[in-house]
Amino acid sequence: MLLEGKTGIIFGVANKRSIAWAIAQALSREGMRLAFTYQGERLKEGVESLSSTLPNSILLPCDVTVDAEVDAVFKSVDEQLGRLDTLVHSVAFAPKEDLENEFVKTSRDGFKLAHDISAYSLVGLSRAAMPLLEKSGGGSIVALTYHGAVKAVEGYNLMGVAKASLEASVRYLAANLGPKNIRVNAISAGPVNTLAARGIKGFTGMLHHHAERAPLRRNVELEEIGNAALFLCSNMSSAITGEIMYVDCGYNIIGV
Ligand code: NAP
Repeated sequence: MLLEGKTGIIFGVANKRSIAWAIAQALSREGMRLAFTYQGERLKEGVESLSSTLPNSILLPCDVTVDAEVDAVFKSVDEQLGRLDTLVHSVAFAPKEDLENEFVKTSRDGFKLAHDISAYSLVGLSRAAMPLLEKSGGGSIVALTYHGAVKAVEGYNLMGVAKASLEASVRYLAANLGPKNIRVNAISAGPVNTLAARGIKGFTGMLHHHAERAPLRRNVELEEIGNAALFLCSNMSSAITGEIMYVDCGYNIIGV
């Protein structure tokens, strides 16, 4: 198994359709022991019923906007798992009205919140994970992004700007943490029907458009994103850092 004896922490499982859950299944399949976080009591039961199906996993509360919760999570990981090799960041949020409004009407508060949860959290979580990853001799951090970071996508609006910040953070973190043998990459996934995706106006149309235009003439499957993350978390990708890896059936390469 590729990840025997390794441990990881996964932020962003909301339900069985979450990208984070597909990634967790792929990492667990290859022997990784996992910690899961959930945001608030509302989601605890659902995440617990999923995480309990994977051997020796642990479950911890964490709202990524609260520094004390972030610190407590990594303290518990140190105590309960004893080491850390991987961090998966699969978290994003923007207020619905800011996604639906014309982009020019984006509110200051919505802008701040979207960047805090969707981009700054990668920096904060990486900092908190750093001592544990270093103790393990290095590690791999993987975030999730979307093509709306580099192209204007109708309906993606504020989230596209937050994803641009996330992608730049991936590069700066990779440059910063590389000397500690900590790699930082992102997967730019094609559209998948999840809870977060339903907040995007016209999402179903987006799914059809991608499937028609992508070279592979279909949308990406959750399992394929999980397998791409497995590659980035394993030694198979040991010389890859600071990259935005598209897992989108080739959609992004198409011009006219
Ligand atoms: P999802 O299942 O709804 O996952 C999003 C997660 O973010 C949820 O678990 C959500 O928890 C969590 N979250 C939001 N605010 C948080 C906070 N303050 N603290 C901690 N967690 C918080 O949707 P998903 O599509 O799998 O999204 C995962 C990642 O993939 C996101 O970064 C998304 O932008 C990215 N992505 C998605 C697609 C797509 O088409 N679905 C494509 C490319 C990239 P709550 O439910 O409690 O808010």
